Amino acid sequence: MPTVEKRTVSLPGPQADYIDALVASGAYASASEVVRAGLRALRERDAAVERWLREKVAPTYDAMKADPARALSGAEVRAALARREFALYYQPVVRLTDQRLVGAEALVRWMHPQRGMVAPDEFIPLAETTGLIVQVGEWVLEQACAQAAVWQRAGLPPFRLAVNVSAREFTSSLPGRVEGTLNRYRIDPSWLELEITESTLMHDIDYVIGIMDRISALGVALSLDDFGTGYSSLSFLKRFLIDTLKIDRSFTTGIPADVSDCAIASTIISMGRKLGHRVIAEGVETVEQTEFLRQAGCDEVQGYLYGKPLPAYEFEKALRENWLLVA
Ligand code: C2E
Ligand code: MG
Ligand code: MG
Repeated sequence: MPTVEKRTVSLPGPQADYIDALVASGAYASASEVVRAGLRALRERDAAVERWLREKVAPTYDAMKADPARALSGAEVRAALARREFALYYQPVVRLTDQRLVGAEALVRWMHPQRGMVAPDEFIPLAETTGLIVQVGEWVLEQACAQAAVWQRAGLPPFRLAVNVSAREFTSSLPGRVEGTLNRYRIDPSWLELEITESTLMHDIDYVIGIMDRISALGVALSLDDFGTGYSSLSFLKRFLIDTLKIDRSFTTGIPADVSDCAIASTIISMGRKLGHRVIAEGVETVEQTEFLRQAGCDEVQGYLYGKPLPAYEFEKALRENWLLVA
C-alpha cells in the first residue's frame, strides 16, 4: 500500500472535494502526484473563476457599503474558508530601468455568492480581530505557491510573488510553514516574497529578528509594505533583514503636484537605496508619477498604469500575449 500524503491543495469550488476524494481513495503513490493533481485542479479553478465573473452580476461596491444591515461577520469569513470562496488576484510589479515584469503581488478577493467580489479591506480587518487571518493567510500562501509551481513548470523564469502576511501570522511557526510549502511545490525560494507592515515590527525585537533570520535563510525575500504610514523608528531599517521598501500609495498619489509627497517619496527612495534596499512605489497611475520616480532613483513600480490585480488566468494571458515581459 503506497504512502498517501493527506495534504491537499486548497481550492475553491467542487474541484477541492474531487481532490479530497482522490486522496482519500489512496489513488496517489507520492506527494508529487498530489501536487500534479492540485496544479491541474488550479487550472480548472481559474476557469471556474472566469465563468463566475462572466455570469454573475456583482453589486457595486458603494451599494454594498451603503447597506450596514449586511455587515459581514466572522462566522461568514469562517464559512467562506470552508466553502473555498477566496481567490487570489495578481498585480504586476515592473522594473523601471527596462519596464520588465519582476514580480507580482498576490491580493486576496472573496468571491461572495450573493455580494459579488468583496475587496480585502472589507474582510481582512474582520479576519484580524477574529484571529481567522491565520487560516486566511495559510490559504493565501498555499495558493500563491501552487500558482508559482504552475508558472515555474510552464517554463517562466522566476518572478517574485509577494504575499501579504499579517502581524498575527508572523510567529515562530511561519518559517517552517513557508519552508514546507516551498518544498511541497518544489519551487525555488526566489519565487516568493513576504510583505509585512510596520505593525509587525512593533513586537519583541529579538523575537521578530529571529523569525526574519529564519525566513531569509530560506532564500525568501522580505518586504516592508505601506512604508511611511506606521510608527516604526528608522533604526528598525538598520536592524531588520528587509530586502524591499514599498512606498505607500498615499505618497505616490500626490506626485508630482504635492511638494510634500514628492519630498517624502524621494527621501524614502534615497534612504532606502543607501541602506541597500530595493524600493518599490505602489499606486502608480500616471506617466508623470513614473517619470518622477525614475528620476528619483526608484527601482520598481506597481499600480494601475501597469496593470490592475488580475485573476491568475488573465495575468498569465497577459504574460503570454507579451504585454508583460518577464525579466
Ligand atoms: P496592500 O498590500 O498595500 O496592497 C496594495 C493595494 O493597493 C491593493 O488593494 C491594490 O489593488 C491597490 N492598488 C494597487 N495599485 C493601485 C493604483 O494604482 N491605484 C489604486 N487606487 N489602488 C491601487 P487591495 O487588493 O484592495 O488590498 C488592500 C489591502 O488588503 C492590501 O494593501 C493588504 O494590506 C490587504 N491584503 C490584500 N490581500 C491580503 C492577504 O492575502 N493577506 C493579508 N494579510 N492582507 C491582504
Ligand atoms: Mg502589500
Ligand atoms: Mg501597500
